Amino acid sequence: MTPQPRLEIRNITRCFNGRAVVDDVSLKVMPGQVTCLLGPSGCGKSTTLRIIAGVDMQDSGEIYIDGNLICDTVYRVPPERRSVGLMFQDFALFPHLSVAENVAFGLVGARAQKRARVEELLTRVDLIGYIDAFPHQLSGGEQQRVALARALAPRPRIMLMDEPFSGLDNRLRDEIRDDTLSVLKEEGAAVLLVTHEPDEAMRMADEIALMRGGRIVQQGAPYNLYNAPVDRAAAAFFSDIN
Ligand code: ADP
Ligand code: MG
Repeated sequence: MTPQPRLEIRNITRCFNGRAVVDDVSLKVMPGQVTCLLGPSGCGKSTTLRIIAGVDMQDSGEIYIDGNLICDTVYRVPPERRSVGLMFQDFALFPHLSVAENVAFGLVGARAQKRARVEELLTRVDLIGYIDAFPHQLSGGEQQRVALARALAPRPRIMLMDEPFSGLDNRLRDEIRDDTLSVLKEEGAAVLLVTHEPDEAMRMADEIALMRGGRIVQQGAPYNLYNAPVDRAAAAFFSDIN
């Protein structure tokens, strides 16, 4: 028996001004895996992610988490009850809250329990020494790791990440990608990562869904897409990976 997907979207379509920017997209994300939604700017990646997060609404199609329907065109679980963690490039930390308070922000429950979870995560992202610091005292990469800890704190069933590393400089980005990956794996999160960079997808993904013009044109393991691209455009897209 194949395991149940953590996240499944079926035939999602979203139109703006009569144009389908997400066009009949179906996708599965398996538990413990990183799935990359990869494609050029404007192909509909962020719109897809926003629909899954519940901050935008599809015109047709369904979304399931662990086999439970969370959204179709008549029924809709609100964003805060979907158990999704969000990490976006411009999803900044709260500047007036300490690192500990930022990470604890989405947590409910007893004070001691929340503190234990905050300490666990800050240890995991190697920032326990900054627990009482404020965001402006941290580098960009460190802030990114706090944002990761904050998103993971409530143990979301699925992490949605939209180009979370594009604000970082090259040298730092490689390091943060690797750190992020190991934290996500340790936490056992299922991840849907949006990126327009093939090398990022090759580096991080267990599975890649290649998107173009609102549609998924190919899906599979990274080396399959790299070795057997579906068409010339896909081949060209992967060709400048070093
Ligand atoms: P990507 O994240 O892949 O760069 P987006 O999902 O942000 O792409 O956008 C896909 C297309 O949909 C783009 O052409 C964009 O201009 C359009 N679009 C996105 N949001 C809206 C909106 N709220 N109203 C109209 N057009 C939109
Ligand atoms: Mg985008």
